[in-house]
Amino acid sequence: MKTQLPMKTFGIILVLVLQCSCNNSEIEDDMSSTSKDSFLKLYKMIYNVVSIDSTSSDEYVMVRTTGVPDHKTPFFGKGHEKYEEYNGDNPNFSTAINLMGTISDPTLLTQSITFRFPKYPAEATTHVSTTGGAFGIGRNGVVYFNQYNGAGAALDDLEINNADQYLGHPTPSMGGNGGTYHYHYEPKWLTTSFGNESFVGFLLDGFPIYGPYENGIKITNDMLDEFHGHSSTTTDYPTKAIYHYHITSATSSKPEILKLAAPYINGGKYYGTKGIAN
Ligand SMILES: [Zn+2]
Ligand SMILES: [Zn+2]
Repeated sequence: MKTQLPMKTFGIILVLVLQCSCNNSEIEDDMSSTSKDSFLKLYKMIYNVVSIDSTSSDEYVMVRTTGVPDHKTPFFGKGHEKYEEYNGDNPNFSTAINLMGTISDPTLLTQSITFRFPKYPAEATTHVSTTGGAFGIGRNGVVYFNQYNGAGAALDDLEINNADQYLGHPTPSMGGNGGTYHYHYEPKWLTTSFGNESFVGFLLDGFPIYGPYENGIKITNDMLDEFHGHSSTTTDYPTKAIYHYHITSATSSKPEILKLAAPYINGGKYYGTKGIAN
């Protein structure tokens, strides 16, 4: 990337040098710069990952994860220490999913995924569409997928009936490379553990995602822009408005209720310039 973007890289280095000469330290207070914001404080809240590297690159913060959740799920399979029988409210839940006549009943598998999030995220000039696969990371290292299924269509009963009590499920084992556990909807484990106004992860463009409430008020899709975000203060940045996404509340895992919450995390395009996940 450096060879492709020499001027941009030079500009970022220059800013860092200026900051360092002012503060005589590393970028400790990551929101002190008037021109560029980074969210290093939030990266420090991410856990259950292999590594977080915010210093090797001037452009990206690198996060490596196995994608294996820190919570239990039926998808670990019976006999596994983190197996937990389904205990949600969807009577049609099934670990098996019938995709165009082929039944897949995957257990979740350890992955090796590297995210490169823009260190200084900014609104993109052209807003590109999200694509399938990992398009963000949860605070607990689990990956987020967008609001579409593998065929690019809206998530339907089939997919929703496969979402466990924490609203996650693995990719199907078609072709032998499935098993990537992911959330499309509110990550119940995170909003229960940390509170429904808390930081719950990053989208691939480096902007943070927050829970379904703010200042005690339930966020609805009408309160957000087309990307499913807005600029305002948050619990972590109480004095400076930051752009962030919100996950829309999922009060039930029944398809008829969950579908009403769509879009769940993002409106279909990134607000900022997307990073890399591979
Ligand atoms: Zn899915
Ligand atoms: Zn907000």
